[in-house]
Amino acid sequence: MPVTIVLGTQWGDEGKGKLTDLLAGEMDFVVRYQGGHNAGHTVVVDGESFALQLIPSGVLNESVTPVIGNGVVIDPGVLIAEIDQLASRGVDTSRLKVSGQAHLIMPYHIELDRVAERHLGKNSLGTTKRGIGPTYADKAARIGLRVQDLLDPKIFRQKLEVVLKEKNAILAKVYNRLPLSADQIADAYLNEYAPRIAPLISDTVALLNDAVVAEKRILLEGAQATFLDLDHGTYPFVTSSNPTAGGAITGSGIGPRNISRVIGVAKAYLTRVGSGPFPTEVFDEVAEQLVDRGHEFGTNTGRRRRTGWFDAVLLRHAARINSLSEVFITKLDVLDPFDVVKVAVAYESDGQRYDSVPYHQSVFHKAVPIYEEFPGWKCDLSSVRKRSDLPKEALNYIEFLSQQIGVPVTIVGVGPSREQYVEI
Ligand code: GDP
Repeated sequence: MPVTIVLGTQWGDEGKGKLTDLLAGEMDFVVRYQGGHNAGHTVVVDGESFALQLIPSGVLNESVTPVIGNGVVIDPGVLIAEIDQLASRGVDTSRLKVSGQAHLIMPYHIELDRVAERHLGKNSLGTTKRGIGPTYADKAARIGLRVQDLLDPKIFRQKLEVVLKEKNAILAKVYNRLPLSADQIADAYLNEYAPRIAPLISDTVALLNDAVVAEKRILLEGAQATFLDLDHGTYPFVTSSNPTAGGAITGSGIGPRNISRVIGVAKAYLTRVGSGPFPTEVFDEVAEQLVDRGHEFGTNTGRRRRTGWFDAVLLRHAARINSLSEVFITKLDVLDPFDVVKVAVAYESDGQRYDSVPYHQSVFHKAVPIYEEFPGWKCDLSSVRKRSDLPKEALNYIEFLSQQIGVPVTIVGVGPSREQYVEI
């Protein structure tokens, strides 16, 4: 059963792109299964940095077929720009397949995302305002337009006109905005985008299931992360799809009994973008150092990330709901200069101890971490490539994390480049 899932176990930006890129060498297919272009992956190859938003990072590997699965939402203009940008840097994107069942992000989704966030004021969710949430909402409301609609101009127009009538009424009456033009949207989508996207459209569910039967190796690549999951995350400060292992199954159409490995990616510390609870958050010079050394600014948005200590309570939960088979710890090198490193092993809230994530958000919002402290290793890990060359303090830290999570840590990242990792 050659199907592997790689997913984020925290609040995103764990470095999934690097692991996917590393594993892509052994894969035949790399598949995005949810999210949209709010998921920035950074992959550094031979000193060159590639920021990928929508196309699976496997595209950088010539033997891989990159697939955008049915669970993804696609802004076709962004997809074309990404293809062109990769092509201009010599990357061959001709193998890319796009599911005809994936939903299209439309201009009214972007407009509504922007105005709704503004309308919420201080209660805003901090979305990336790219129309992703509204597109998933329309998918659930069964009024979405899909990639396959680009192949049928008559159907596209009909669906667009029905939906746009309602969207324009909302834009005008709730948000006092000007209506959008169906002609302009249809012109861009059918005349500009459709001819470029049409050759990529494919029955990806059939393609992938045939590949499973043929024992091809498939990597399902998650965007965002477990605690941003619509069901399992810190709702409402979540994304509008399911980055967890369950989402990999619905978003690709590969059945659960075909999955052989589920690899969770976790930073050696913790970050979060935007609002929402974060028990181990730090604010002092530790935060400055983590932001500075870890370059903790969003790939897409440039927003400074909130930072904190590793939270083993979250990781145990992530291990459970994703049935993780192993964990990849990234950015251990960021902790190099610290005298002391901390790990939250439980929380305290209203005088009670919690060893697992409290299900009630009011409890979770007040959770105070109970830490275990470790001496730092205080040396440069960036050139370490062998387990036996890791300082004992770093190894102790990793072993403690593994024991706390209940799943083996198999790889540790010691720098942004492809070769900067250590097998444990
Ligand atoms: P993703 O969305 O989960 O792929 O995460 P991002 O790409 O937003 O963030 C990961 C960032 O960390 C990228 O800039 C990577 O090049 C970098 N990175 C990945 N692994 C390591 C590591 O082990 N050490 C360091 N210092 N940087 C890393």
